[in-house]
Amino acid sequence: MSLIDPFGRRIRYLRVSVTDRCNLQCDYCRPAGEPLLPNHQQLLTMEEMVRLSRLFVTLGIDRIRLTGGEPLLRRNMVMLVREMSALPGLQELSLTTNALLLDRHADELRQAGLHRVNISLDTLNPETFHRITRGGDLNRVLAGIEAAVRAGLKPVKINMVVMRDINDHEIPEMIAFAVRHALALRFIETMPVGRAGLGGAERYIPADEIVRRARLGDGQEWIPVDAPKEGGAGPARYFRLAGGDAEVGIISARSRHFCDTCNRMRLTSRGELVLCLGGEDRVDLKTLLRQGASDALLMDAIRNGVARKPERHHFELGAEGASHWNMSGLGG
Ligand code: SAM
Repeated sequence: MSLIDPFGRRIRYLRVSVTDRCNLQCDYCRPAGEPLLPNHQQLLTMEEMVRLSRLFVTLGIDRIRLTGGEPLLRRNMVMLVREMSALPGLQELSLTTNALLLDRHADELRQAGLHRVNISLDTLNPETFHRITRGGDLNRVLAGIEAAVRAGLKPVKINMVVMRDINDHEIPEMIAFAVRHALALRFIETMPVGRAGLGGAERYIPADEIVRRARLGDGQEWIPVDAPKEGGAGPARYFRLAGGDAEVGIISARSRHFCDTCNRMRLTSRGELVLCLGGEDRVDLKTLLRQGASDALLMDAIRNGVARKPERHHFELGAEGASHWNMSGLGG
């Protein structure tokens, strides 16, 4: 079976947010004074997440990424990974994390069937890290990265949201760090999601400028790469450093949207299916589940959602086109 939307795109990638909670409060993601988080009743249980994921996979989803909030805060994550990775037809199970708790869990997650991790790291400066995340300890992230590499969760990808006057001067340093530790690095444009995102216009740096500033030394050029070493079935464009091995990816959701190849949907921790990161349309799968819906009915609801997937988002329009939801609720 496969899920094809009205624009002929085959939807095969699902991001599952397993919790809204986070142990960091990055200001571009979760602004201060955000409303209280849902109580447990509102969150999908592990069984509900696995059941829905099984139905998504039956319908043609073959890659699932677990995210949040901070997914490693969810109790029984290892068990969830074990059950998800065993879903027949699923080809890849990955995790997006801030890595604060990864040094404790990397080995058991790998053994439970996790294939890969993406680690969010915007700076290598402990003070800047503390400020961006409102209190986070950079050393724990570095320990998490080391543990992920040691556990064989290859490739370990680092995602850096580049923000003007906050961490943009660290672009070359981050490349050097990635090369030194054999990590796959991707730069991400700030997206206008959530209140901080909306207010962050002056921090936004377009991808072309990021590429221009990605220099390890004088005269080094980045050459576009069609087939990146690390696979890269996602929306990043890749560049290789002339004469070297270093490769970086750029995700330019605003300056050059990639909606025509969008192959993804999101399931929030409250059981809503989100068709587009930039839109408000959702399908409430949790209510159906708790009303005792059959697998067939749930699969119909998912198919109907796919039939409503919008053609594209309008982030480049700024606030008017943006969602009022925060990334922490949407799972990035
Ligand atoms: N807690 C996990 C983490 O830190 O990776 C997973 C959830 S977090 C919402 C997922 C990703 O969304 C992170 O890499 C974060 O940097 C990114 N993100 C959050 N707000 C963003 C924004 N306004 N623009 C671009 N990326 C954003």
